[in-house]
Amino acid sequence: MNPPSSLPFWCVVPAAGVGSRMRADRPKQYLTLSGRTILEHTLARLLAQPGLQRVVVSLSSDDPYWPHVAQAADERVWTAPGGKERADSVLSALDRLVAAGVNEHAWVLVHDAARPNLAPEDLARLLATLADDPVGGLLAGPSRDTLKLIGPDGRVVQTLDRAAIWQAYTPQMFRLGLLRAALSDALAACTQVTDEASAMERLGYSPRLVEGRTDNIKVTRPEDLEWLQRAWGDPL
Ligand code: C5P
Repeated sequence: MNPPSSLPFWCVVPAAGVGSRMRADRPKQYLTLSGRTILEHTLARLLAQPGLQRVVVSLSSDDPYWPHVAQAADERVWTAPGGKERADSVLSALDRLVAAGVNEHAWVLVHDAARPNLAPEDLARLLATLADDPVGGLLAGPSRDTLKLIGPDGRVVQTLDRAAIWQAYTPQMFRLGLLRAALSDALAACTQVTDEASAMERLGYSPRLVEGRTDNIKVTRPEDLEWLQRAWGDPL
């Protein structure tokens, strides 16, 4: 087994979403936290991890903000065209890796652009835990709240067993060839996949869950950014 600190891996950062739930004047990955954009924080966390080979960032074709991103000039950072859904954007970045000759067995970590608070220890533990795993897996956490299944009328249908329910975070770590096949297959079948693991599950694989910190939040709503700004000591 490779020592965890040097396990070679590649990253994909889908950053082609609009993030309409933020109700901001720009895509959420370009909002500011401690003087830098969310995307810059996200990329800095990934680039700081030993073993990182290249990061492919999927971008919308009319993205005017990317050239101003500090890491845009880093030779370890490549870009790919984003797609209609998140899965299209991820697949496009995987195609970029294949075109560059990356081995199909290479580990690829897919991490949301809008998750700037990934702890370095979580990233290192994910890599170390899955280094020899036959399938791969993802950072996740047990649900803290009681969960309700909701009906079309907005009323509770059922209370779920929260002990058996975990929330999926990113990074999600899979082999390049298998992940590409799984996402292509799901998209060809018009199946909605909101994360990489679910595409793998469709093909019968069972990704491993690696418990991560709950503050690895995906900035989705204005209060998420306010929470991070407070946690990072930003003046509000
Ligand atoms: O919208 P949501 O928060 O689920 O998006 C998760 C990530 O996927 C974000 O980083 C977003 O920029 C990215 N995305 C993308 N292409 C899309 C939709 C979302 O790269 N078409």
